[in-house]
Amino acid sequence: MVMQETRGLILYNRNFREDDKLVKIFTEAAGKRMFFVKHASRSKLASVIQPLVIADFIVKVNDEGLSYIEDYGQVRTFHGIQSDIFSLAYATYLLSLADAAITDGTYDPHLFAFLVKTLDLMEQGLDYEVLTNIFEIQILERFGVSLNFHDCLVCHQVGQAFDFSFTYAGLLCPQHYDRDPRRSHLNPNVPYLLNKFQHMQFSELKQIRLQPGIKKELRDFIDQIYEEYVGIHLKSKKFIDDLQGWGHMMQKNS
Ligand SMILES: [Zn+2]
Repeated sequence: MVMQETRGLILYNRNFREDDKLVKIFTEAAGKRMFFVKHASRSKLASVIQPLVIADFIVKVNDEGLSYIEDYGQVRTFHGIQSDIFSLAYATYLLSLADAAITDGTYDPHLFAFLVKTLDLMEQGLDYEVLTNIFEIQILERFGVSLNFHDCLVCHQVGQAFDFSFTYAGLLCPQHYDRDPRRSHLNPNVPYLLNKFQHMQFSELKQIRLQPGIKKELRDFIDQIYEEYVGIHLKSKKFIDDLQGWGHMMQKNS
């Protein structure tokens, strides 16, 4: 076992035996790990092992089995996110997506930083649906999925009214639409935005404003991409899909 100091983000915790807990933490220095907390309710760690808490931890990392938290400091929570059921649902989905994208113990400080930064922007009140889309698109690579939303897969022209072909896993320009009779018939703004999302820098994010119609089209298409190329079904995503229905119902009644 190695003693280490690292920042860490709590992904989730779950009960284990009588009063113990297993806590999944995404650490900056040692990847995701499962930590064992004995007598969790009476432990000084009780408040810090909640999802969406970031802290500096001193940990004993065990490559073979469970790891242990020795101490912590500099605790940060996302009060803004947690005070709203919608942003909380989206943030929770991002945590589970990051958890699904890499195996435990994989050193991935870039994904750690990207996840924390995305949560920071959500906390600041930026559009959580758009932030989630950007996160979903950029994390595709971690699932081994690399899609080109930049140029036509036949002629490599750029800046066209592209459509997406699932048959060829790429874009078709209007001259080459006929290569795939079952092309997606997307609004060309969808691949245009996905290309932007793939290369988006955080500094550009503040300017993103999208209308509900295009957001719905993005949501539907990213769902298709995940269904086709990733194939995971996260409970936290199902919850968001259900929430959408509730949101609409509330709007209708108001
Ligand atoms: Zn073409």
